[in-house]
Amino acid sequence: MKFEALVSPAVRSQPVYEPGKPIEYVARELGLDPAGIIKLASNENPFGPSPKALAAAKAALEHGEIYPDGGCYDLRHKLAAAYGFSADQFIIGNGSNEVIELLGHALLRPGDEVVMGTPAFVVYKLVTLLFGATPVEVPLVNHRHDLERIAAAITPKTKLVFVCTPNNPTGTTNTEAELLAFARALPEHVVAVFDEAYAEYVTNAPDLRALIREGRKVLCLRTFSKIYGLASLRVGYGYAPADMVALLNRVRQPFNVNAIAQAAALAALDDGAFAEKCARENRQGLVQLAAGFNQLGLESVPSEANFILVKVGEGARVFAGMQQRGVIVRPMQGYGMPEWLRLTVGSHAQNERMLAALAQSM
Ligand SMILES: *Cc1c(COP(=O)(O)O)cnc(C)c1O
Repeated sequence: MKFEALVSPAVRSQPVYEPGKPIEYVARELGLDPAGIIKLASNENPFGPSPKALAAAKAALEHGEIYPDGGCYDLRHKLAAAYGFSADQFIIGNGSNEVIELLGHALLRPGDEVVMGTPAFVVYKLVTLLFGATPVEVPLVNHRHDLERIAAAITPKTKLVFVCTPNNPTGTTNTEAELLAFARALPEHVVAVFDEAYAEYVTNAPDLRALIREGRKVLCLRTFSKIYGLASLRVGYGYAPADMVALLNRVRQPFNVNAIAQAAALAALDDGAFAEKCARENRQGLVQLAAGFNQLGLESVPSEANFILVKVGEGARVFAGMQQRGVIVRPMQGYGMPEWLRLTVGSHAQNERMLAALAQSM
């Protein structure tokens, strides 16, 4: 008997997540020097980790023999002070992706429905399918989440609804007023998740803390992977009413977040100057890229995040051409947008090189 016959049907039909290609893979495949390749495919921070976080991570390595604090006490308390919440309103994950998976463990059974926009972050759909639940995908309108249509897609079977703002891959946001009204109108049996992975890049980002204070079934997700430049260390968090957090904590591994990541995240929170610099450079990069696309006569979607969608025609061909020139970006056919590429905003020099590779690959 084959192993495959033994696994659950949800696992057998589970789609595979396609990450941005690592630099080393592209170098091997194309015979290029890895040092000459830039990766602008996964919305990583072109300025690296904050120097304070890096120093803290190195220091934490000295005690690599000790298990991490499974309760992430210091990090939860630091976040609590920053948010004006209590520490028991934070759940820390091995990346915010783990918190999405914890929601699946805690909430989803076969027959349940999960409502989400499309295109949006593909992990919502993957987690839904993994737990045998049914994704209900609501098309974006003008590349933006249409919260009325999302609300209309909710049924008695709906357990979860995901709204990504700014949305990956479109970079578009919904307003604070829209999001608050949407959440306040949800029925009692639905948990709303607002994924704020890129919120720190947004000028005057929506503040959804009132929903948590009101005790609604709302969980907001944040990550240290993007503006804090710690994607490799895997640390993110959710904030929610304490009763939700307590139940989610039951389904996580005891030591889900390693000590290096906890130390780095703590130090990153003390480095507001670094985050501000990254947000400022990113805004300038978005202007630089928009001007570049304009010169090439290419349509793009105005973005508030650290990435931008650009319409290039044959996305797969242009992606391959740019990769030949040592610039890795993200093709969008997997998101049902084969004419588009998603480009991460890099440093000024990286953006220039990306625009040149794009022009040569058209
Ligand atoms: C990058 C990203 C995340 C971050 O995931 P981590 O697991 O924290 O690295 C979360 N949500 C979205 C929409 C993202 O694009």
